[in-house]
Amino acid sequence: MRLARSHVLIGIEEHSLIAGAKAVEQAFIAAVEKQALSEEIRIVETGSLGIIGHGVVVVVYPEGVTYVGVTKADVPEIVSEHLIKGHPVERLRVYSPPCFDTEKMRTGLVHKQPRIVLSNCGVIDPENLEEAIAGGDYQALEKVITEGISPQGVTDEVTRSGLRGRGGAGFPTGKKWSLTAPGAEKYLVCNADEGEPGMCKDRLILEGDPHRLIEGMILAGYAIGVKKGYIYIRGEYSLPIGRMTRTIENARANNLLGEHILGADISFDIEIKKGAGAYVCGEETALIESIEGKRGYPRLRPPYPGAVGLWGKPTVVNNVETLANVAPIILNGADWFRSFGTETCPGTKVYTVFGHAANPGLIEVEMGTSLREIVYRYGGGVRNGKRFKAALVGGAAGAFIDEDGLNVEMDYDSLRDYSAVLGSGAVLVLDEDASIVELLQGILRFFRHESCGQCVPCRSGTNRLEAILDRFCVGEGSEDDLDLLLRVSRMMRDTAFCPLGQSPVIPIESALRAFRQEFLSYPAVATSV
Ligand code: SF4
Repeated sequence: MRLARSHVLIGIEEHSLIAGAKAVEQAFIAAVEKQALSEEIRIVETGSLGIIGHGVVVVVYPEGVTYVGVTKADVPEIVSEHLIKGHPVERLRVYSPPCFDTEKMRTGLVHKQPRIVLSNCGVIDPENLEEAIAGGDYQALEKVITEGISPQGVTDEVTRSGLRGRGGAGFPTGKKWSLTAPGAEKYLVCNADEGEPGMCKDRLILEGDPHRLIEGMILAGYAIGVKKGYIYIRGEYSLPIGRMTRTIENARANNLLGEHILGADISFDIEIKKGAGAYVCGEETALIESIEGKRGYPRLRPPYPGAVGLWGKPTVVNNVETLANVAPIILNGADWFRSFGTETCPGTKVYTVFGHAANPGLIEVEMGTSLREIVYRYGGGVRNGKRFKAALVGGAAGAFIDEDGLNVEMDYDSLRDYSAVLGSGAVLVLDEDASIVELLQGILRFFRHESCGQCVPCRSGTNRLEAILDRFCVGEGSEDDLDLLLRVSRMMRDTAFCPLGQSPVIPIESALRAFRQEFLSYPAVATSV
């Protein structure tokens, strides 16, 4: 087979599919065949580079020219002008929007983003094992096998790296693994439920580099002494489920999953479990109940899953981003990982920047990067030249941070000053016209809708909170109502059974801290996000 002189990478993910990515791909295949160039030009399906909201993204290599908003009508021009004559089509080209420096993509750096987790996303064909290996996947596994690194050695390296769970409050991953109770039968669960509104980071990792997750799970399973892993993925994620399923089958066929992986004394396999779209199933014990086929009610803790988890056996639950960090740590070492981020929060963090950001998208930056940098440097600032009003950091259960907090360093420890958590990595940017009142109403409506109803403080409290916000939204809220809002949410924080019911206090307190007057003067300020 001849080496292709050009590669046309088409980002196929849920957003771009809606924008017609498949039609663009078919148009490229047809145009290239018509010109008898199929041997010279390879059309490749890839995941997302992280550019969101700009339609179909196409990257042409070796030049690294990136086109956005491509339709099938544009394809003949790209083929004839760029691929045949060598002149890029300027009207579709993006040079270096603040978020993405396309000239650096080949080095794995996107506008100096240290891409550890996303290094292969949008760069390889995610279902092609050879491309995944060329992109570095399975090299850590090979290292473990060829260098005879013990399970404890893997755990020790992850512990030394300082990796903290990327899905919640940042519990140290190596410690979590070490605390798992001994036993012949244990389980590893990858939490890919991603129920946070507007979030897509786990989905894009799954779509862009599924082998990275598989390798991370094999290594984690080896370290903990687990032979069976589950990926709990939300049922609406049809593309990543299909991609993940085929990738697991491919890995099995190549002895990268199953008994005696690559001839070594490592056996591990993965099964996919689909969630039914309940936000509460992102909580690890509810997720475990759901895998067991029961209603997703959170369990009383302790005992923690590390002692009594899936089917009553010790179980480790890690999220997608956490597990996607494991292979690079084992391959490059703990010291290398610690060269990114801060002393107490090493490594990088993947964020979904959306809302009124000029360049919404998925970014990966060092832990400790300021909110200002995330919004202005990577997110391109506020769209339409408007002023920044606030960012909701951490998702529905996150905190509003206004202009005064823009210099906060984004890591687990610094955000504690704002009662915020990194959590899902959501950064919802709000411009000067956004209504905090309406947004908070939407958040509280979401909590009421997603409350599983198991405990009274949350079942009743979420209804109360929404009703109070509804009063403000018709201009009938009072100072007393604001105090009531705080009292009810604090009562829920102290008495609700699981994090869902304990969380509404975070957006409420932060909204009232910075925007109390806006509630009393509503609807003087009003638009929606
Ligand atoms: Fe269910 Fe809410 Fe209670 Fe959690 S806090 S168990 S979601 S009712």
